[in-house]
Amino acid sequence: MTGRGNWTYLLPGRAPVLIDAGVGAPEHLEAIARHQSGSTLHVVVTHAHVDHIAGAVALQQRWPSARFSKFPWPDRDRGYDVNWQPLADGDRIAAGDGELHVVHTPGHAPDHIALWEPASRVVFSGDLVVVGTTVVIPASGGGSLQAYLQSLRRILSLQPARLLPAHGPAVDDPGAIVSRYIAHREQRERQVLAALESRLHTVEAIVAHIYAGLAAPLVPMARESVLAHLNKLADDGAAHRAGDEWRLSSTDAPPAR
Ligand SMILES: [Zn+2]
Repeated sequence: MTGRGNWTYLLPGRAPVLIDAGVGAPEHLEAIARHQSGSTLHVVVTHAHVDHIAGAVALQQRWPSARFSKFPWPDRDRGYDVNWQPLADGDRIAAGDGELHVVHTPGHAPDHIALWEPASRVVFSGDLVVVGTTVVIPASGGGSLQAYLQSLRRILSLQPARLLPAHGPAVDDPGAIVSRYIAHREQRERQVLAALESRLHTVEAIVAHIYAGLAAPLVPMARESVLAHLNKLADDGAAHRAGDEWRLSSTDAPPAR
C-alpha cells in the first residue's frame, strides 16, 4: 500500500530537520548520514503509521542527541521508544535555514500533520494526497472522512505552490488534485446513499455492490472506505446505525422536541 516506498525529506542548514523517520532501513540511514554528518538532527514525524514512524528508534541509535517531535497519538507513539516532544497546530519549527509551520490535518490518521514552509509556499503533505490514487481513510483505525475533507480544504486555503507527499511524485498543481479528490469522495458518497436507498443495509452488501468484482485482498480497504462514508453520513444526519445495519435517516421524521 505504500507504492514504491516512501519519501522522507531532509532540510539541511542551521537547524537540520528530517521529515518522517522511514522504517530504519540501513541504506536510508546511510543516505541521511551523507548529508547530515553533524550530531544535531530534529526528526518530525507526520503521523504514526508504521512506514512514517518506525525508523525513529534506529535514527536515535545513529544520532543519539536527535530530537523527535510529532502531534500526539499516545496509543501508537508509545510503540516507538524515543522521547516524543508534542507538536500542536500552529507551532513553528526551525528547519534548515528557515521555518516550518505545523498544520494539524487529521482524517487519514488522527495525529496527521502537514508542514508548511511559507517562504517557498511548499507543503510537506505526508499522506494527504498520493498522485494517481486515493488515500485510505481507515475508519476503524482513527480515520475520519469528514476531518480528511476539512484538512484538504485547509491545505488548499494556504494556496500552496507545491506539495511534497510521502509517497509518489511532487504535486505542482495542488488545486487540481485536491479538487479531484473532493469530487471523487462526493461521487462515492452518492453511491453509498444510492445503495442505502436500494435497501443495502450492511457494509458488506454496500461494498459488494459498489466495488463489484474487486480482488479479495482489496476488500478490507474498500470496507474501511465505505464505513468512513457511512460515519460521515451519520455525522451529517443523513444516515444512522442500528447494530450492524445502516439506514437512511428519514427526511420526513417529526422534528425532535
Ligand atoms: Zn499513513
